[in-house]
Amino acid sequence: MLHAISWSGGKDSTATILLFKQHWNELMMPGDKAVILFAEVMFDRKKGISGHNPDIINFIHTKAKIFEEWGFEVHILHAEKDYLDFFHHIMGKSRKIPEHEGMMYGFPASGLCGIKRDCKLKPMEEWKKLHKDEGIIEYVGIAADEQKRLNSLYSKPNTVSLLATYGYAEEDAMALCKEYDMVSPQYDMIREGENKSSKKFFFPKTMKRDGCWFCPNAKLCEHKAIYEKYPDAWATYVALENETVAYPKWNCFSKETLHDRDLKIKELIAKKDIEVSDIEEFKQLSIFDYLAS
Ligand code: SF4
Repeated sequence: MLHAISWSGGKDSTATILLFKQHWNELMMPGDKAVILFAEVMFDRKKGISGHNPDIINFIHTKAKIFEEWGFEVHILHAEKDYLDFFHHIMGKSRKIPEHEGMMYGFPASGLCGIKRDCKLKPMEEWKKLHKDEGIIEYVGIAADEQKRLNSLYSKPNTVSLLATYGYAEEDAMALCKEYDMVSPQYDMIREGENKSSKKFFFPKTMKRDGCWFCPNAKLCEHKAIYEKYPDAWATYVALENETVAYPKWNCFSKETLHDRDLKIKELIAKKDIEVSDIEEFKQLSIFDYLAS
């Protein structure tokens, strides 16, 4: 029997791995294998540019080694398609919108994300198909206080939530991750410059999501991190807005374009530079004043 844990790097799926380790002897029978599956979505496979924040991918690789030492098999899966393939896909005949035939697809839709289908779920499904004869129990990171998600989980055969089994709510999952030093750097990211009502440019707030950086739900701080860490990939992403495609908006619920975001990020960085030099100037003045007194 294969015990397959779907891992996203977030607190709930990481805590599921930790609970599995704690209850290893009661969950495993002789001949069983415990497997961790992480689907890495790629932005540009040829250039090796991940769709995940580089700090998060680093966390995945570092912790994967520890899980292997504990006896888990860890598989980092990749789909054949990457984000750029998806964007440039030429659309076939469509009864709903015939004028889209022959056009490039463009940005994935909010809500019905084709990237999730093609780049995240597909390699997972292929892996499970390949191993189905061995018998698979799937473990998903749904916490004991997520009743709606648990209800839909219970309708699936051979799928288990260890967090629900052992009574771990979301905050307990986070506490367990902290205990093992297994908290993803995603929780250190700070949202800035996004609070319209306070009219403050800087508004620190911890990030909660852990998806792709090109997601329609991506926050400004996630884009800023990519601008700083993968500058070429960021420039490629922003330039996609210049192409003629069937779906031209990176986020169909927002008026803000990627070019707007690009400008905002540059402003944010420049403002921080000014603030740092203000502090230096202030420090120098203080020392001067002190010496003069
Ligand atoms: S994080 Fe966003 S872009 Fe990535 S698969 Fe999920 S919905 Fe799609």
